[in-house]
Amino acid sequence: MARYTGASCRLCRRENLKMYLKGDRCYSDKCAIERRPYPPGQHGQGRIKFSEYGVQLREKQKVKRMYGLLEAQFRLYYQRANAKKGKTGENLLQALELRLDNVAFRMGFADTRSEARQLVRHAHFRVNGKKVNIPSYQVRVGDKISVKERSKKVVSIAEALEAVDRRGFPAWVDVDKKGFEGTVKALPAREDLTLPIQEQLIVELYSK
Ligand code: SF4
Repeated sequence: MARYTGASCRLCRRENLKMYLKGDRCYSDKCAIERRPYPPGQHGQGRIKFSEYGVQLREKQKVKRMYGLLEAQFRLYYQRANAKKGKTGENLLQALELRLDNVAFRMGFADTRSEARQLVRHAHFRVNGKKVNIPSYQVRVGDKISVKERSKKVVSIAEALEAVDRRGFPAWVDVDKKGFEGTVKALPAREDLTLPIQEQLIVELYSK
């Protein structure tokens, strides 16, 4: 599956938001958005005035980039969320949160979602004891995500678990750091998403 391979910090600067796409660096004074808090490019420091469409577009791009998805994948999530009962925006965010790569990241097995995605692809995780190597796999309430026995020695996983306290765990997961495993104990609630996201703008954009 295709993925964005450009500079991550550029994405944060474009959205004017720390999206924590690079792990350790994001917590250091090397963070690009703190050094250069304006959009990238030749006209980045000029005045930018967004139209209504522009505001909606930027919100969609922000969330899409946060979860490391491309347009076609993101639109599919929207279509599924729209077909479900309830609020489309909240359905959308919930489905994104329940991707296996995101859950592994939330449980602290990786420093970033892109790192988690690679670990999932390389089959380092088990879901309820079974091998799953599909990053988009939708985790359900009650599922137990564990690191494969041999993979407990993978340095990046151990280091990520060591460093997870700086961002903490969301309320909907229960993690046993020593056992390298975690359980999804509830569906992610809207208030669990602490990053500033206005999902209604995404719904307005796609409803046009
Ligand atoms: Fe974003 Fe800063 Fe991390 Fe770069 S270092 S990805 S700008 S939060």
